Amino acid sequence: MLRLFVNRRQKMVEFEVKNKDLLARIGRLKTKSGIVETPAFLPVINMAKQSVTPRELWEEFGCRILITNAYIIKKQHADKALNMGIHSFLDFPGTIMTDSGAYQILAYGDIEATPDEIIKFQEEIDTDIATILDLPTGWAVSKERAEYTVRETVNRAGKLQELRSRNDILWVGPIQGGRYLDLVAKSARKMSRIQFDIHALGSPTPVMEQYLFDLLVDMIFAAKMNLPFNRPFHLFGAGHPFMFALAVALGCDLFDSAAYNIFAQDDRYLTTYGTVHLKELEYLPCSCPVCYKRDAQDFREMPKRERETELTRHNLHVCFAEIKRIKQAIREGRLWEHLMRRTHGHPSLLQAMKRLKDYCEFIERHSPVVKKSGLFFFSSIDLARPEVIRHDKKLRERYTPPEKAKVLVLYPSVGPRRTLRSKLYKRALADICEKLRIDHSEAQVCFYIPPFGVVPKELSDVYPLSQFEIVCPPDADTIRYVAQRIIDYLREKRYERRVMIIKSGTWQEEIAQICKEAFEKEGKFLEFLIV
Ligand SMILES: [Zn+2]
Repeated sequence: MLRLFVNRRQKMVEFEVKNKDLLARIGRLKTKSGIVETPAFLPVINMAKQSVTPRELWEEFGCRILITNAYIIKKQHADKALNMGIHSFLDFPGTIMTDSGAYQILAYGDIEATPDEIIKFQEEIDTDIATILDLPTGWAVSKERAEYTVRETVNRAGKLQELRSRNDILWVGPIQGGRYLDLVAKSARKMSRIQFDIHALGSPTPVMEQYLFDLLVDMIFAAKMNLPFNRPFHLFGAGHPFMFALAVALGCDLFDSAAYNIFAQDDRYLTTYGTVHLKELEYLPCSCPVCYKRDAQDFREMPKRERETELTRHNLHVCFAEIKRIKQAIREGRLWEHLMRRTHGHPSLLQAMKRLKDYCEFIERHSPVVKKSGLFFFSSIDLARPEVIRHDKKLRERYTPPEKAKVLVLYPSVGPRRTLRSKLYKRALADICEKLRIDHSEAQVCFYIPPFGVVPKELSDVYPLSQFEIVCPPDADTIRYVAQRIIDYLREKRYERRVMIIKSGTWQEEIAQICKEAFEKEGKFLEFLIV
């Protein structure tokens, strides 16, 4: 599958998407220093505090892209970087992205460089991916201030085309607006009209530091839903491997973090479920090359400098391994399952996962229709899965029961293909027709299936209506969802008789009860047959 975005200057921004799942994509982004496979984690390089060098990142970790701060380099090593070029200066042959100093504006109020100088400097040091000097919104600011930062960033972005002199550098257009979602959307709409190659969500760091991942979900969607979908998207400062899966699933192709380094300086050990202080560790829950021969005590006994380096290396291994797991999950079409595992690692992440319900239709529109593997359903959170949303939509909009179907038989199932093969089903169906005195040819079987709702028998081979596993009995919200789908179906489609089959003492009774109450209220008729 080739997705090519061509901007108006006919400079090709090549971003080829190989695999997709949810809004995530395994892609190949072409830069002048090589092709970068996405999703990619970009370690932040700060030469003053670096215990693992860029060369080691390249050789030992297979890191192909990193990010450093153009403003800090300009301030501290301008001549050297200009003479050597950024690749020699850092000693890194891969792709280098540079940030512009916006974070320093946020931290210190202002910086000693103009937006024009920052654009020029990034071209002169020969970076591969450059960022305009945007004006970050920050966190605790008024709406007026936020609006000003959006406007000012768009103004600065508008000047890029006049100022840039090279065509081989990819430019990043940051989206501002902070926690004001309408402003994020506005910023995205305005920035998308400017010829950027990549967009980024600006200043989400405070949101992540406070674990407001549900707000982060809102911010990312406000941006993504108003940007050209195929343009790569970067999330600044997506610090921790426990949230990489969430970021990728929401369509973040690139994200950077200095956490691997900063945390190591403070004896903090990264895992995919959170951060642990070294002094709290009795066992090392990791088998990376740093940890597999050691225990926590070995770490504690190391001299400070060595410990910091080794912890940094461990933290990097955890980050890169998680990216590989995410990519494999995308390949298998199991990113949702991976996301469920990760988000159950922390309540604030699970809260963010629940927020996906608000965006389920957008996710559905961009998610692949067919996958290689079956689906696992764990709880009502899975009701936001694109496959569940898609089935409901198709049934409502495109399905008409066969004309000769006069009697609807609603039959319970947790896997229609299995049900159809079972002797119990065949016998039960014959019994039902006899008991109700109905002709086989006039009866239409529809299964009621958690979490999908109503599935007409003739659709039971459509993916994934028979390719899934679910926890039984389903939880209360899933039961309510299925019952509501039955009620909606019965309201919309015409049958002379409707019969619901229930096995007593099971979850089916609860569904039947909800349907019965709804229909009694409407004065309609639904028969129940208990088997
Ligand atoms: Zn390790």
